[in-house]
Amino acid sequence: MVFSMSFRKSTISAFNMVQKGFRPLVLCGPSGTGKSTLIKKLFDELPDSFGFSISHTTRKPRAGEQNGKEYYFTDKEEMQSQIDRGQFLESATYSGNMYGTSKRAVEDVQRAGKVCVLDIDVQGVKQIKKTITLDPLYVFVKPPSISELEKRLRERNTETEESLQLRLKAAQEEIEYGEQPGNFHLVIENDNVEKAYKKLRDFVVSEIERQKGLGASTKCRFIQFIYAEQLI
Ligand code: 5GP
Repeated sequence: MVFSMSFRKSTISAFNMVQKGFRPLVLCGPSGTGKSTLIKKLFDELPDSFGFSISHTTRKPRAGEQNGKEYYFTDKEEMQSQIDRGQFLESATYSGNMYGTSKRAVEDVQRAGKVCVLDIDVQGVKQIKKTITLDPLYVFVKPPSISELEKRLRERNTETEESLQLRLKAAQEEIEYGEQPGNFHLVIENDNVEKAYKKLRDFVVSEIERQKGLGASTKCRFIQFIYAEQLI
């Protein structure tokens, strides 16, 4: 029996889902667009379904941030040596600081049977797209405009003038990439947090339902596949 490549691909990806759980969710978008607020709302509403991939960063903690909650705060030497030892899925330099997702951060969430949520920048998205390890859903959150983003960043009062300018520069490039058709499964303009959250929630919940259905039906197809390929 001959199976098409797409059958093989979908069967293998369904098998991964059965093995590793649901597809992770990547939230990307310029600093200050409100990703953290959207993620917090998702966790508040569905705490048993989602878990946060806690990134490492070399930037200093902001007031109220705790090590091991928002980030693992580290230094450049330590982080670079962990990257060199292959412990990271992706890493990037953003506004002069290093950020990265360790393999462990994602595994911790997946082991708990939850959908892993990653808050990463465009450089991280591009690296993850080159691998088959995660196969996540990609959501881009964009501000209504750069001037609105600048206003929000200034109101947040967490940046120096220099780091604010770096973030605005990065934002322009990120929006360009985010708006290119095909780069993300969903693009949300965050002009109103309740509306933006509803879009995110509806997308994620329907995707989980779809994957549940796919998982059940493709367990059978996977068994057909391994017999046909005489893998057992
Ligand atoms: P912030 O300093 O405002 O917390 O984050 C700055 C930017 O770094 C945000 O756009 C955020 O999405 C991104 N970021 C946070 N963690 C990671 C990570 O692990 N990898 C990458 N590539 N970007 C990250």
